Amino acid sequence: MVDLVEQYRSLREDMDRVVLGVLEVGRFVRGPECDAFERELADYCGVRAACGVASGTDALRLTLWALGVGPGDEVVTAALGFIATAEAIVQNGARPVFVDVDPERYTMDPQALSRALTPRTKVIIPVHLYGQPADMAAINAVASGIPVIEDAAHAHGATLGGRRAGALGTAGCFSFYPGKNLGAYGDAGAVVSDDEALVARVRALGHHGAGADKYDNRIAGTNSRLDALQAAVLRLKLRHLDEWNDRRRELVGVYREELAGAPGLALPVEEEGLRSAWHLFVVRTANRDGLREHLAAHRIASSIHYPVPLHLVPAMLDIVGRSGALPVAERLAREVVSLPLYPELPPETARRVAGEVRTFLGA
Ligand SMILES: *Cc1c(COP(=O)(O)O)cnc(C)c1O
Repeated sequence: MVDLVEQYRSLREDMDRVVLGVLEVGRFVRGPECDAFERELADYCGVRAACGVASGTDALRLTLWALGVGPGDEVVTAALGFIATAEAIVQNGARPVFVDVDPERYTMDPQALSRALTPRTKVIIPVHLYGQPADMAAINAVASGIPVIEDAAHAHGATLGGRRAGALGTAGCFSFYPGKNLGAYGDAGAVVSDDEALVARVRALGHHGAGADKYDNRIAGTNSRLDALQAAVLRLKLRHLDEWNDRRRELVGVYREELAGAPGLALPVEEEGLRSAWHLFVVRTANRDGLREHLAAHRIASSIHYPVPLHLVPAMLDIVGRSGALPVAERLAREVVSLPLYPELPPETARRVAGEVRTFLGA
């Protein structure tokens, strides 16, 4: 599905230099590389502040913690997504409330959100699934003051109305897991926001609750920091992110051209004013599993994001019990399939993949 070594080779000289540079300086946790990356990421997103943390899951967990989420609170999120978003809610002692997604956009349905709000709703977490920004104007309007935290783990560089993912709500949470659009060489994450006090609380919580100095522990926090090697890797890669996202977009164009009109196949919809980061290229078809077998027989990778909606994942059933049916998320989970997409994917490979999809569909 992705080739991370190919990308390293394209950067080798610069990458080796920045990584070795960190070893020469000898500051391995936070330090100047981390400060510089935070500044550059905040500028890139167009917000005032950023804080590097240990993972995308921790970005979400610490942001909820910094907002005072705890037992008795509800946090609303979309049912189609990755388990990490729900875990971050559960780990703060709050109850996740899963709502259905929009059938075209695949992200949180603002009307479903409005029906799910209760006096206990403390935070709302839309997920910019597959790289497509959620309908943030409608979500922010429905939220009317309740903090909206973007799970932007799929959406580095995506824009909505000219603003970047991460700058569309109260705060944005990024993962730099290696396979993400902006990936580290290990685990890493970040929180970005215009609310500098919120980012400062995230920073303190991830640094054992430290105030001005290391042993001035104001609150019982935890250890969740960005390390300098990952920060150096991310600084270099951030400079290439737009060009890589452009390559993804071109490959999506190839897929669209080759798959146009294929019977029984739904292609992703990209609305006016919205620019997806194209983390994943996801199509839908009724016989999804048959299609995957056909592709596998032709040595073509595919995957499913995500096969079980979060309200039906066993770990969540144990915690929140059976909720009502969420028909759109449940249907999508049966029909979606992700085709190979990464910046270094040769266009002729995308053509071959599309050709096999058409063959399977009898087109
Ligand atoms: C990857 C991911 C996360 C978690 O990020 P980690 O860095 O792996 O902890 C959260 N939400 C979504 C949607 C993701 O894809």
